Order: sequence, then C-alpha cells, then structure tokens
Amino acid sequence: MFCPICKSEYREGFRRCAECNVRLVKELPPDDAPEFIDYTEVLSTFNPADIAILKSILNSTDIDYFFQGEHFGYLRPLALPTRLMVRKDQSENARKILRDLKLSFSGINLLKNKEKR
Ligand SMILES: [Zn+2]
Repeated sequence: MFCPICKSEYREGFRRCAECNVRLVKELPPDDAPEFIDYTEVLSTFNPADIAILKSILNSTDIDYFFQGEHFGYLRPLALPTRLMVRKDQSENARKILRDLKLSFSGINLLKNKEKR
C-alpha cells in the first residue's frame, strides 16, 4: 500500500497514511506519466513566410515549440495571428535567439517580456 501524496510504502492492513491522513492506494501511478508542459507565447505573426523562417531557426535549436492557429491563418488570413508558443522554461532562450536575429521581415511583433525587472 502506498500513500499517494508522500509516496511512503505501508504494509498490508494500513488504510491511511499517518503523515498525510489520506487513504492509501494499492499502486502509485507510474512515474513516467507525461508531465504537463506549460507553453507561453513568444511572438505572433500574420505572415506564413515568417513562420517558415522561424521553423528553420527553431529546428536548429533544442527549443520545444509549436505554432498555434497556423491552419486558421490560411482560412482567415487577417482574423487571427499565428502565435509561436514555446515551452515556458525555454521562452527566455527563444526570445534571446529571435532578438539576436534582428528580425527584419514584416508582420512580427515580439512580445515584451513581462518578467522584465
Ligand atoms: Zn503520506
């Protein structure tokens, strides 16, 4: 028997964790369950050409990213920008890389870093 909170192992017969006061479970959920990864918006663009460039740049890094609204963009070109979403813990790095490029192509709005101090 295991406590689902502190993961202590208990012998058969115990029902509650003495520390956490929660009901014990027979098995702990597997540790390799996919962790929830938080993504944050780094920039947005209306220009599909920008997206192609950004992809080629980001593919040469180890940054995890995806484009949100990429496919809507073709249906409704001016309705919503395609947003570049980057893993939160890599967003600083991504911003730095994209800033260093001194982006000259149009349509890109680099978001201001809200965490700026
Ligand atoms: Zn416990």
